[in-house]
Amino acid sequence: MLAGRMMDFPLTLTHLLDRARTFYGRSEIVSRRPDRSLHRSTYADFYRRACQLAHALKRLGVQPGDRVASLCWNHHQHLELYFAVPAMGAVLHTLNLRLAPKDLGYIAHHAGDRILVVDRTLLPLLEKFVKDVPSIEHVIVIPDDGPAPEGTLDYEQCLASEPTAFDFPTLEERSAAMLCYTSGTTGNPKGVLFSHRSIVLHTLVSCMGEVIGPTAQDVMLPVVPMFHAAAWGLPFDALITGAKLVFPGPHLDAVSLLDLMAQERVTLAGGVPTIWLGILALLDQEPKRWDLRTIRAMLIGGSAAPASLIDGFMKRHGLHVTHAWGMTELNPVGTLARLKPHHADLDDAARLDIRASQGYPIPFVEQRHVSDTGQVLPWDGKTMGELEVRGPWVARSYYSDEGADRFTQDGWFKTGDVVTIDAEGYLRITDRSKDVIKSGGEWISSVALENALMAHPAVLEAAVFAARHPKWDERPLAAVVLKPGQRATAEELAAYLQQHFVKWWLPEDYLFVPQIPRTSTGKFLKMKLREEFGDHLMKTASP
Ligand code: AMP
Repeated sequence: MLAGRMMDFPLTLTHLLDRARTFYGRSEIVSRRPDRSLHRSTYADFYRRACQLAHALKRLGVQPGDRVASLCWNHHQHLELYFAVPAMGAVLHTLNLRLAPKDLGYIAHHAGDRILVVDRTLLPLLEKFVKDVPSIEHVIVIPDDGPAPEGTLDYEQCLASEPTAFDFPTLEERSAAMLCYTSGTTGNPKGVLFSHRSIVLHTLVSCMGEVIGPTAQDVMLPVVPMFHAAAWGLPFDALITGAKLVFPGPHLDAVSLLDLMAQERVTLAGGVPTIWLGILALLDQEPKRWDLRTIRAMLIGGSAAPASLIDGFMKRHGLHVTHAWGMTELNPVGTLARLKPHHADLDDAARLDIRASQGYPIPFVEQRHVSDTGQVLPWDGKTMGELEVRGPWVARSYYSDEGADRFTQDGWFKTGDVVTIDAEGYLRITDRSKDVIKSGGEWISSVALENALMAHPAVLEAAVFAARHPKWDERPLAAVVLKPGQRATAEELAAYLQQHFVKWWLPEDYLFVPQIPRTSTGKFLKMKLREEFGDHLMKTASP
């Protein structure tokens, strides 16, 4: 074979950092502090502070490959960690502040974190697990709302006396840059070690117009936490394009977010469905309070976005929602639901159905779905199977090699998501494999039922899960949260669903609950529902 004669230029985050300083020094970074005031800085400030941070970490003994952990909300200091740590050759390990202390202790210990940077407001959480992690040598506190306590280092003081330039080493593009753990609803959380190369390639593709497509004109608001799956890569997308960044800090309620969007003239925002559900409900109540005309795209992912949410934003507020699917194991974006030109011929309902799907793979992600026996299934839009993916930003193993059974012999990653794929490649997630409902040997999609229920005017949220049944083995049960002041009976909901589904798919019963239990990353925790209500039908159903 004739080898190409192009340079082997390393795909590393160091280039993004340099680029931000050289070309976008005046781009802005705005962060909301715990006291709600706004901190304003520029990419030039960011670059200088990232250099100071690298010096400070080096002084504390951080070596290439060492893990530096963050336990932080989204803010400018977290962005400094995102770049300074990988660019000096170390690995940023983002800890998920919504996890239980015992899980955090397990994860930090498993990762062998040496330094931990924490928001002062999160110290009470840190204190609950830090003693279980002997590898942690220094705790550095971001002192926003008061001084760092004794026995810890003050982030701002660490940076203050350091030089504002750092001679970043030339790194190998395959070296590790970030470590993120999966939410681990079953078994222990597993670490995914992103490389510089995987982040850079993911960033380049994310910046295509067909994918997220930011430019220097954009104002990006990553509501999705930087402690979860690298905030979908949005901070990297901003740095490479020079977009203005707006960080919400710890204030994620709908009013705070809408205020920030309007004041800072946000154009692009990303968050999980729960965030957008809250925002939509508020906008419905007060449609004129915020001027959101600058917004051109709202990304939604992390769990299934109900079609009613996408439709509600569009029809009632003229706001465009783009649905995406991803996983920590993918760095994290895998697919995105964009319409193709010929879909212009479809009616509104059919177009909404496509926009509410999880979309088709972004470039360089490949997909297939397989049966229980490993047979590759047809893309016919109805056959359900487990989704498998491969590509340059898909994990090939977990940190410490656990979970080897998730990787196939022929080079695919088993996602654990049960999907259908249609002839055009659009996938629809019907369940997590551990959440599937198998009634009389046939699969029922809990996600489809939930989405339909959430379109009912009285329903705020609904989760459908498997309950044991004396005759059918399993039957669907619905846990429903009603909107404040609204009423609906089980009979009404059943009649409503009957318009959309065959009879055997309909939930056997409806349980009205005050809230749906969630995982640390905001996904429905159906395991909890099954534990609590799994035997409900054994008592009430006749065999
Ligand atoms: P995590 O690694 O914590 O981001 O979780 C990844 C999982 O979240 C996926 O395997 C899916 O089960 C779920 N997920 C992510 N995005 C979506 C989406 N758009 N629709 C439905 N489920 C999703």
